[in-house]
Amino acid sequence: MPSIIIIFIVTFMLSYAWHMVGITIGYHRLLSHRSFRCQKLIEYFWVLGGYLAFQGSPIWWAAMHRAHHRYTDSPFDPHSPRLSGWKYAYYGWIKEPGYPEHISPTIQCRDLTKDSLYKWLEQGGDWRKAHKLCFRLGIAYRIALILCFGWVVAIAEFTAALIVQHIPLLLNVVCHIPKLGYKNYFTPDGSVNVWWVAMLTFGEGWHNNHHAFPGSARSGLRRFEIDPSWLTLRLMKLVGLVSWMREESISSKYKPAIEKTLTSVG
Ligand SMILES: [Zn+2]
Ligand SMILES: [Zn+2]
Repeated sequence: MPSIIIIFIVTFMLSYAWHMVGITIGYHRLLSHRSFRCQKLIEYFWVLGGYLAFQGSPIWWAAMHRAHHRYTDSPFDPHSPRLSGWKYAYYGWIKEPGYPEHISPTIQCRDLTKDSLYKWLEQGGDWRKAHKLCFRLGIAYRIALILCFGWVVAIAEFTAALIVQHIPLLLNVVCHIPKLGYKNYFTPDGSVNVWWVAMLTFGEGWHNNHHAFPGSARSGLRRFEIDPSWLTLRLMKLVGLVSWMREESISSKYKPAIEKTLTSVG
């Protein structure tokens, strides 16, 4: 019989992977950027992983993220450390009472509002109600885990979810502070690639690459920029779970800018 420590570690690792990939593949690369296509059941599997890591309404998440790309590091960016300081960029923006005037999910996320499950989780655009619903369903899920698998599994799972919950928030700050990373592309914003954030987020920390190619399912472009989320998608494509995927490579249209940057970086 496996010891409690082994059960804890294995559950923690599996839960971390599901919740994190739920955010990277589900919330981010699929719902926010539509960088690949898959069946609805597969979409729900990943989005559920993100939702149970307390990421909130998928429509809210995608609307705010699309606005982040549209207005990166400008006064209209919902979470720019350059303009609003790191505390606001980390969690202050989530405490706002509702959508700012320039962000409207019915306009910017029309594709997602057609899904009745996402519409329900959005709670009519009421942030407080939507966050509360996400919290309550998250707690209900852990109570079910206690009843089915016991305390050790539930605590390991919950710990992984709480850690994963904070990692995209950390990325919003760290990957927009230029001195903390490097650029492959001369994007007009402060986005940088940060290797340790990329490891924690399974590839999302190659954030300057991502701002250069937001629609790409692949974010790690140079040989050492390992992107586990993209590798997962490639595997899914190989076995037929992904029907189409947009993939940029280092030799894409921005190549001259990269060479210039690499020279300047040394
Ligand atoms: Zn960004
Ligand atoms: Zn993005």
